Amino acid sequence: MIGVQAWKFRDTLPPPSVLRHVVDIHCHPTDSEIPVQSMDNLPIIIGAMSTLQADQGLVRDLATAFPDKVVPSFGYHPWFTHWIALVPYESKEEHYRCIFKDADEHPEAFQKLLLHLPEPVTLQTVLEDVRQNLMAFSSAMLGEVGIDRASRVPYNYVSSPGDLTPFTIPLEHQLAILEAQLDLATELGRNVSMHSVKSQQATVELLDRMTERHGERWMKISIDIHSCGFSPQTWLYIEKHHPNVFFSLSTAINSRSPNHRALIAACSSRRILVESDCHKIDDSMQRTWDMVLIVAEVKGWPVESSWEEVVDESQQGVVRRLENNWREFVQGNHVQTRKLSKRAASG
Ligand SMILES: [Zn+2]
Repeated sequence: MIGVQAWKFRDTLPPPSVLRHVVDIHCHPTDSEIPVQSMDNLPIIIGAMSTLQADQGLVRDLATAFPDKVVPSFGYHPWFTHWIALVPYESKEEHYRCIFKDADEHPEAFQKLLLHLPEPVTLQTVLEDVRQNLMAFSSAMLGEVGIDRASRVPYNYVSSPGDLTPFTIPLEHQLAILEAQLDLATELGRNVSMHSVKSQQATVELLDRMTERHGERWMKISIDIHSCGFSPQTWLYIEKHHPNVFFSLSTAINSRSPNHRALIAACSSRRILVESDCHKIDDSMQRTWDMVLIVAEVKGWPVESSWEEVVDESQQGVVRRLENNWREFVQGNHVQTRKLSKRAASG
């Protein structure tokens, strides 16, 4: 008997022979201090995300030091896209006024925010940075990139991320930066870790648009919608029309809503991945394992208590199934089975 029911594993971890096959596809270890010992002892593989200019180099260093354990991901997160200028700008203030169209309605808030905002970087600089990092690691993914219609800009992200301004980053601006990064990932044949919050319809339209724009090249890469909060209906549309799209779940984000169980129940066994979304390397393994157990419970899959050859595919445990999904995600080269109709794309 290689598998046991998920509840028997609560608060315990399986042996290293099983953990070796677990992948935390999305986390942010460089947001905290990383003890070398923690990395040495880490039994799982992690997808380490970058989010802004300052952490691209940290992710690069981590992947260089631990090439067998770290899949580095380079990209610019939607929360910081106001720092990026799509076109040449006259001054810092002019750039940010252009992004925050309602700056005149909140003059004090705007001036206070402006003090903390960095000099903008051009999209061209950002893309060149991502390109160089992706080319330096053959396994590297694009991430974390995406769109977010829920987040408001804080006055100072570093010192007080909870102190929010009235401003949001326009979706068109976020999309322009996301699409430019996705075009680059397609050109270089790299997989993507994507953030999508309160943007289900915009994400569906984006995926439809990318399929139209890039055709077969788009099918060569895989997209992971990270900490996916989609309704089962939205997911099922994506699953049917976009064979290169997967999703991953974390207890950090998804356990806040019971929706994730409905999503797990509805999704194909082949499209689901797990993650921690953790900012501390020491939490990554346990949090990822917690989500493995939730997936096992909802799908009714056994949990491996040791690693043995499995002959009968229907007897496969949760770790083996998720590992297979990860392999298919990494391999890419998906087959487009149906044509997008204009109606489906807009409906
Ligand atoms: Zn994240």
